[in-house]
Amino acid sequence: MAFDDIVRIEQLQKGPLEEGEWLANKRVFIRVDFNVPLDKKTGAITDDSRIRAALPTIRYAVEAGAKVILASHLGRPKGHDENLSLEPVGLRLAELTGWEVHLPEDCIGDAPKKVIHDLRVASAGLRGGPQICLLENLRFHQGEEKNDETFARALAELCDVYVDDAFGAMHRAHASVDALPRLVKDRGMGLLVASELAALARLVGAPARPYVAVLGGAKVSDKIAVIEALLARCTSICIGGAMANTFLAAQGLNMQRSLVEGDKLALARTLLQKADTAGVKLLLPVDVVVGTGIDVVEGQVVAVTAVPAETMALDIGPKTIAAYSAVLRGAKTVFWNGPMGLFESPAFATGTFELARAMSGIAGFTVVGGGDSAAAVNQAGGDIAAGFDHLSTGGGASLEFIEGKRMPGIEALRRGARP
Ligand code: ADP
Ligand code: MG
Repeated sequence: MAFDDIVRIEQLQKGPLEEGEWLANKRVFIRVDFNVPLDKKTGAITDDSRIRAALPTIRYAVEAGAKVILASHLGRPKGHDENLSLEPVGLRLAELTGWEVHLPEDCIGDAPKKVIHDLRVASAGLRGGPQICLLENLRFHQGEEKNDETFARALAELCDVYVDDAFGAMHRAHASVDALPRLVKDRGMGLLVASELAALARLVGAPARPYVAVLGGAKVSDKIAVIEALLARCTSICIGGAMANTFLAAQGLNMQRSLVEGDKLALARTLLQKADTAGVKLLLPVDVVVGTGIDVVEGQVVAVTAVPAETMALDIGPKTIAAYSAVLRGAKTVFWNGPMGLFESPAFATGTFELARAMSGIAGFTVVGGGDSAAAVNQAGGDIAAGFDHLSTGGGASLEFIEGKRMPGIEALRRGARP
């Protein structure tokens, strides 16, 4: 996939001006992914990495003297919902940057227009620091998810320039991602999106071999398309997590009370067959850690052929960890999606954390995609996260990218994109 007809924020300039200077005093709409996890009881932000990830682009535009307008969705509101206001995000952003963040009550209409008109932009000798505008949750309007033209026009009225830096939303044909950029002539991608595309493109172009994929997580059904795509490119695929149970059951093993997708057994056999035909080594666990329920404090290691009655497999076992780590040691390219077990519980986190450690230590190019997987890498401790070449901020988006799907948010930025 080529992206040379997509302008980067640094190239959004006209004429013989200094880099970024053309953005001065322009109203620059930046679509960010501020869909942060919130504490269910208190509503507090439990992880602000998505806000931090967007800062370089926001800072770039602010320092170029732009009137910066940030827009995001948060959660799945049905209409206006105070509990899903972007207010806590605005407060965190102000804390992180020291700027004044203004949050008009609606994302379209006169309220944001007035705020944007009055914004004080960064300039030499500025007293009081710059001000930026954060629009209220885009999904308070149904038009966002419907990719509605009228809603997109109302957003377009707010800005002169459009920048997409919300990689995690680029696979969605929503108004702020798809219809809106097509209406704005001066548009491009932010620094985060540019780095995501550069990293993920290395997995779909001509990845250095051996190319090892590690797949886990809750369901086979979520990942069929990505498995199929990886079969065409990988040297080996290591399977763990609940997904492995379905493959093991498909081979006739009794997984007892483990999570197994009973209606996907035939599909699992087909995938094993396809791997064989393609000459791809598809590795399955040889041992697992079982427990009688997800709240047990200590698991028991057993062979996959001897899962005790009344138990479920909740992590990969030590022999499997050793086997997968050995495969990873020789890899030149690694893509990981989906935890190896129920890592939220310390009794079943070892497989996930040990593979994270193994991957972070290799010299090859290592990428993690997927919300829970990236969270697991961050929780694995030490310098493990720093040992990865790329932690994608987009779960679904990174998978669709690897599947080779056209993503609406990317297509809309291309030079020839039409409304
Ligand atoms: P990602 O968000 O990285 O794409 P998924 O959402 O597919 O990953 O899967 C993550 C979930 O899968 C985690 O909540 C984890 O607890 C669960 N999981 C992994 N292995 C098992 C297992 N053996 N049994 C039950 N749940 C599992
Ligand atoms: Mg997930």
